[in-house]
Amino acid sequence: MSTDSKRKEKAVVYKQQQIATGIYDMWIDTSLAQQAKAGQFISVYTQDKSALLPRPISICEADKVNNRLRIVYRIAGKGTDEFSHYKAGHKIDILGTLGNGFPVDRAAGKKVCLMGGGIGIPPMLQLAKSIKESGNAASIDIVVGYRNNELFLSQELAEYGNVHIATEDGSVGS
Ligand SMILES: Cc1cc2nc3c(=O)[nH]c(=O)nc-3n(C[C@H](O)[C@H](O)[C@H](O)COP(=O)(O)OP(=O)(O)OC[C@H]3O[C@@H](n4cnc5c(N)ncnc54)[C@H](O)[C@@H]3O)c2cc1C
Repeated sequence: MSTDSKRKEKAVVYKQQQIATGIYDMWIDTSLAQQAKAGQFISVYTQDKSALLPRPISICEADKVNNRLRIVYRIAGKGTDEFSHYKAGHKIDILGTLGNGFPVDRAAGKKVCLMGGGIGIPPMLQLAKSIKESGNAASIDIVVGYRNNELFLSQELAEYGNVHIATEDGSVGS
């Protein structure tokens, strides 16, 4: 099978932690890391067989050296609540990688401005990292919006560009 086609795979939770209220950060061991592109997503199957459809979650980071993908998700309903209880070593079924990904090449020579809010922020991390590593962009600004002062991923984003923060409650930024 080609290495860049989508496939269903048994992955293993490497680690998981809560990083904000209702927001979880999970690394999983999976060979799909090799083909992952910024902006793609995986579908994660629940063990509750009454929930037939897998839950789409964006790739937050891909570690090709260690064959790991990172996903960051908010508990929205039954499926994501189930995921939040997984511990290291837990086996999960995933399908991926899905979607076309972001056109990282288009950043070449440009002043790049990435913008996202809330649970739209996680895929921006791999995007910012990929653009920075390409070394092609003239500059990278990252505008992120949060509900409050729980600024998950903002420090990591700052490794790849100038981060500008706004919050709904005005506790940070403007
Ligand atoms: C391409 C893509 C990428 C995504 N990436 C991410 C990501 O990186 N991180 C992330 O957190 N999320 C992401 N999502 C969203 C994520 O897929 C959903 O939050 C997840 O599928 C919800 O599944 P669940 O089983 O937890 O919730 P569900 O049980 O499916 O419920 C979802 C929401 O609908 C409400 N709901 C359910 N049933 C009803 C009803 N009968 N009446 C009214 N309301 C109802 C629930 O209360 C809940 O708020 C992405 C979605 C897509 C399409």
